[in-house]
Amino acid sequence: MTHPLLDLAPLTADRFAAIERRVAALLGTGHDVVVTQGEALLPLEGGIRSGARPGSTALNVITGPYGQTFGDWLRDCGATVVDLEVPFHTAATAEQVAGALERHPEIDFVSLVHAEAATGNTNPVAEIGEVVRAHGALFYLDAVASIGAEPVLPDAWGVDLCIIGAQKAMGGPAGVSAVSVSPRAWERFAANPAAPRRSYLSLLDWKERWIDGGRRALLHAPAQLEMLALEACLDRIDAEGLDALTARHASAAAATRAGVLALGGGLEPYVHEAREAAPVATTLRTPAGVDASLLVAAALEAAPASGPGGAAPALPLAAGGGALAAEMVRVNHYGPAATPGTVRACLTALGAALAATGREVDTDAALRAAAEAWR
Ligand SMILES: *Cc1c(COP(=O)(O)O)cnc(C)c1O
Repeated sequence: MTHPLLDLAPLTADRFAAIERRVAALLGTGHDVVVTQGEALLPLEGGIRSGARPGSTALNVITGPYGQTFGDWLRDCGATVVDLEVPFHTAATAEQVAGALERHPEIDFVSLVHAEAATGNTNPVAEIGEVVRAHGALFYLDAVASIGAEPVLPDAWGVDLCIIGAQKAMGGPAGVSAVSVSPRAWERFAANPAAPRRSYLSLLDWKERWIDGGRRALLHAPAQLEMLALEACLDRIDAEGLDALTARHASAAAATRAGVLALGGGLEPYVHEAREAAPVATTLRTPAGVDASLLVAAALEAAPASGPGGAAPALPLAAGGGALAAEMVRVNHYGPAATPGTVRACLTALGAALAATGREVDTDAALRAAAEAWR
């Protein structure tokens, strides 16, 4: 008996290249795209280790936990790091980036996270990209949490390294990722003696042995199940349309925000300005005296079971990570969870959990506001 997951024909180089072309189309990029065989941390780390070197100076924009990690990698590479940290309830601005570049003209690398699923903010990449391009630094962008949830336009924005993963708004597998690489990024890598070579982290290996070789021979056996899942994920996005997918995420964010504002009970959007709130996930601040982890646990408990045998998918609610666990609730309304039904269920569950703490909530008003805000 053949097993549908185990007894597969090997994935050919042609099929791998075709999937890569479709990822490039999704990014609307004319640059090389490398589909990397691992979770997005692989190209995120590979891109930094390839582009940064002792003697380089990097501007690292921190709007959430990933920016902290990038700073650690950059320092580990011997780069001098200028950290630009903005409070997690807001976004970075082009003016702040321009100011840092003026104060440190030696900056030759800028790392930025587009949207932060962990803190719920999104940064104005088009405007920041203009400033970075005028300065001439290499521009590295983590678009893992924005791809599929909002427009990601690396070529139009002057992004040299745009890293994506399929596991958030694309609704795809977590075990593959991709990076688009501009010609000037390839030049920088090639001139960097410290760039990983003959290594799983190496992007240059893929350039020299896969791309320059005409995409005929893969470097190693590809992560076959993940590649097939990525292909299926791209099929599903094509069927829905990328614009419809991003619109669904924008609606989920708008509905969640409007619903929470109408709910009352002291729960508030964590990101103050709606335009700085990421479409991928909405973060909420709990009222003083309400621990976010306990509120999430109570909300998940309150969610009514449905479906055959009472089994419903768990609501996409989580407390913030680390120090944020006490004060931040994350509504991860991405991928298949970006639906009116999921937003309604999250609002209802949060309302019930807040009511149980003795706070006054108006769940009906929240559901009405959410329905009106869904565009
Ligand atoms: C989710 C995410 C990643 C990938 O990390 P995982 O925690 O492994 O899913 C990278 N960058 C950002 C901004 C993300 O939101």
